[in-house]
Amino acid sequence: MGKLSTVFDQNQKWADNIKEKQPDFFKESAKGQSPNYLWIGCADSRVPPAQLTGLGPGDLFVHRNIANVVPHSDINIQSVVQYAVSVLKVRHVVVCGHYGCGGVTAAYEDNNLGLIDNWLANIEDVYRTHQDEIEGRPSEEEKLNRFCELNVREQVKKMCHSPFVQQAWKQGQALSVHGLIYDLETGLLNDLDIRIDSAEEAANLES
Ligand SMILES: [Zn+2]
Repeated sequence: MGKLSTVFDQNQKWADNIKEKQPDFFKESAKGQSPNYLWIGCADSRVPPAQLTGLGPGDLFVHRNIANVVPHSDINIQSVVQYAVSVLKVRHVVVCGHYGCGGVTAAYEDNNLGLIDNWLANIEDVYRTHQDEIEGRPSEEEKLNRFCELNVREQVKKMCHSPFVQQAWKQGQALSVHGLIYDLETGLLNDLDIRIDSAEEAANLES
């Protein structure tokens, strides 16, 4: 198993531990999934959705990318949203950013990094929209923190305007979209007080 021995060892312990508490867990899990949450998070290794929420296998449908962005042109994330919302009928969509996000910092610094610049353009759009508010903060750290928060807010807006989310609301499906941000220094999630339950509320978020 070479260099992956740690991964296999830990996996065996993890599976044994769950089976000890719930002998039929994996047999039941293999029958299907019915998660309550779609989680859109950053790919950062320090922000693991299941671990930081204490939720287990079957609870979270997850999509992660650099800086938790929700581009309408990204077929990957939109396919995830379609399946989670239209087929699995999750009850909550969580867009979770984090302070100290390398993707947000890279967008702020605006260096020439190659291919990733195309992805970072999604975040630079957020900066352009909120430049005055971000630059009004007194320190570099506070500017970046506010940028991370506003990125979550803008990605929530985009999520709310996904055709699959709009369709769900139109059909009367119960669905809430939330914006959260994770603090690497405390291990805690902060609620950004963004919770959208309908197309009307999504339209109000614009202002
Ligand atoms: Zn990040």
